[in-house]
Formats: sequence, structure tokens, C-alpha cells
Amino acid sequence: MVHYLDNAATTPVSEKSAEAVMEILRDYYGNPSSLYSIGIKASKKYEHAREVIAESLGCRPEEIFFTGCGTESNNLAIFGAARARKAWGNEVIVTGYEHPSVQNTVDALKDEGFEVITIAPKNGVIEPEEIISHVSPKTVLVTAMMVNNETGAMLDVPYISKKVKEINKRTAVHCDFVQGYMKEKIDLAAIDTLSASGHKINAPKGIGILYMRKGFNLRKTQFGGGQEKGIRSGTENIAFACGFAAAVEEHKDIEGNARKIAALKAMLTEGLGEFDNVTINSPESSTPYVLNFSFEGYRSETVLHFLEARDVYVSSGSACSKGERSHTLEAMKLPSKLVDSAIRVSFGLQNTEDDVKALLDGLREAGQSLMKAKR
Ligand code: PLP
Repeated sequence: MVHYLDNAATTPVSEKSAEAVMEILRDYYGNPSSLYSIGIKASKKYEHAREVIAESLGCRPEEIFFTGCGTESNNLAIFGAARARKAWGNEVIVTGYEHPSVQNTVDALKDEGFEVITIAPKNGVIEPEEIISHVSPKTVLVTAMMVNNETGAMLDVPYISKKVKEINKRTAVHCDFVQGYMKEKIDLAAIDTLSASGHKINAPKGIGILYMRKGFNLRKTQFGGGQEKGIRSGTENIAFACGFAAAVEEHKDIEGNARKIAALKAMLTEGLGEFDNVTINSPESSTPYVLNFSFEGYRSETVLHFLEARDVYVSSGSACSKGERSHTLEAMKLPSKLVDSAIRVSFGLQNTEDDVKALLDGLREAGQSLMKAKR
């Protein structure tokens, strides 16, 4: 039996999501821009998917734009917002533990003359006031993630958005919500743009959304046939949009799901208490869905492959960095011995106590066998 505990990297596609995708591929092949009935039928399905997602965020359907992934949504929002405000400002504020799709995009803005102010985490947590205190009349954009993908650290971006606007109402606020969508409730408050991705909630890879507040000024980054109101040209991926919406429906009970996942996390945390070489790296206030810890004395990759041989799948950091040292743990200034032995466990709705038990058994065995090998 597979014990998949790397849901922050990606999730298995649910039956319902796969069925919704297949229904479109089979029966709704029309181009939604076509004026005849086959196109109109496809367009209705697509717009329904948009409505489901809008409802989940408490916004209007016309504020939801489908994209190819969370990375694309982040690029679109960051480049689009900064460039649209270049005439009056050049400062961008970002947290020091963002996903590469934000970090590298913000870095690319430096080539266009923007100055980037990076707010580092302290003990794994970003203080909202630290971000807010840096906002100036020249700040064009504040971009901050709501849930960190490596430690699960949470940041109150809705609160930050309100405070930022009190200081400079022209500053755009973007939220990377990829790890929080349908796991944490959100009040969009004064957030202007927000990204989410299907494959983190049991929909296929290759579908994302950008929420953009009505009336928000965004410079286009992609040109073409004018689909998605010109913001994201390209023939629509109706099948995956519908697969995404089906997965959203399955995640609707955000509070109930979080309670279930919190119980699994508590079971894991308690189990880890028996190991004297374990240090928990996730802050107390992190999301229930992620637990990052160091298994000191053993390299992450060694433990990861040891567990893999027992059909238990965890990660050594974020999947995107492919074995590189964790960006977030480095930003937290953890000692090398903790960074090099870090393990990230991330839960999904399909996980059960059996998965946690298998992981704890695997770690116990790892402690014994790997120790023997070391002698
Ligand atoms: N932002 C965060 C916090 C993520 O964890 C990820 C994916 O790992 C992304 C953005 C990128 O999403 P996608 O894989 O859909 O491009």
C-alpha cells in the first residue's frame, strides 16, 4: 500500500476530478469562442467551473481568470502589477521565503529598474508589521504567500493588505495562495490578486487561477486572441477547469477537513516526540497540512529513499528545488545539520492514520538500520 505524504508537491487526481475532465474531453470538444451550439455548450461548462471557484473565494466570477498553473498566475500578477505602476514608483516588497515562481519573478523585476525589499522570517515566521513598516509612497507592489510550502508557516495577508492600503492606496497586494487554497479560509479583504493551482487539491497538473479584483490595473504579459478578457490569451482548457472545479467541490468542508488533518499532524508530532534526534522546524502556528522536521544525523535524501523502499513518500524540501537545500530553512538561518536532514511531510484529504503509522515505523527502522550502516 502506498503511503503518499508529499501533497504539498502534488496530489493524486481524485475520481470526481478525473471524471469531470473525461466528460469534457469526450462530450464537449467545442471551442468556447465558437458561436454555434457545440461551442456554446462547452462555454457553459467552462463558465460554471469559474462560478464554482468564484464562490469558493467569495468573489465575482468575472474576477477569476484561468491560467496554466500557479507559477503562471504569480508571474502574471507580479509583472502585470509592477509594470502598470512604474510611472510613479519602483519599490517591491516580498517575503524572504517565497516560492521560486514569486522569488525569481521579483528578481527579474530588478532588471527593469525595480528595487526589491526582502523581509526575512524570524524563527520561521514573518511579522506582518515588518512588511507594513516598509511601505512607502514609492511601493508599487507587496507580494506575500499565505501558507509557506516548506514549513506551512502562515501569514495574515488579508490583514497586511488592509494596512498597506491605509499607507499607500495605490500599492498592489498579491497573495500566493497555492498552498492555502481550499485548506485555509480567506477573506480577500484588500488583496488585489491571488494565485491558486489545481494540482495541490486533487485536480490535474496544468490548471491554475488568478483572482483579480474588479477594476484592478494590470499590464498584460501575454498577447493573442483575447480569451480571459485579454488577460490570458490562448484557447481555454475547459477539461482541466472543470476538473479543478470538481476538486474544489470535494474540498468544500475546509474546517472539517482541517480538523481531520490536524489530528493526523498531532499523531505525527506526538510520535516524533520519541526520537531524540528530531527537531520540529515548522512554527507552532503553521497549517495542519505541513510538518517540517529534521532527523538529525542522517541526510534527508538517504532517509527519503529508505522510506521510499517501504512505500512511504515524503520530501526533503520543496519538490521544485530538486534536492537543493531548502530556501525557506536557509532563510530561517537554521544550522546546516538541520537543513541537510530536513524532511517535509504534507497531508492531503486521502491520508489516514495508517499513513502516519507507516511513516513513524519507517523512521524507527531508519534510525536502527542506518545507524548500523554508519558503524
Ligand atoms: N506557489 C507555491 C507556494 C507552491 O507551492 C507552488 C508549487 O509547488 C507554486 C506556487 C507553483 O504552482 P504550479 O506548480 O501550479 O506552477
